Amino acid sequence: MVSAKRAPWSLESLERACRKALPSATLRLANLPNEFCADVVLGDRPKIRVDSHQIGVRTAVIHELLHVVLDEDLIRFEPVEEVLIEALEAAVNKRISGSRRRVAWWRNAIDRKLRIRK
Ligand SMILES: [Zn+2]
Repeated sequence: MVSAKRAPWSLESLERACRKALPSATLRLANLPNEFCADVVLGDRPKIRVDSHQIGVRTAVIHELLHVVLDEDLIRFEPVEEVLIEALEAAVNKRISGSRRRVAWWRNAIDRKLRIRK
């Protein structure tokens, strides 16, 4: 089914894909058990929960959106999926931190989502 060859991922296209995925996701702050900082239930409307006492909200949101965006690409990496996602999460967040404009975009988008939920 996936016959059309897709362009390889770059940090830029990963961030862009995360931005596109954010509107359809629900986001809420929650108290999670100690071993979980955040989690996501995948689906048409992915449900993301973040424990902001345990991890930064943007870091966690990027992490969970990468799970959403890369879901199909990660099929063959399932046993080491977290290793890959954590590495990409750090790289995408570093890219965002390097630009005031990008930081502002994510701050506004995440704040807006959290405000809608209240
Ligand atoms: Zn993860």
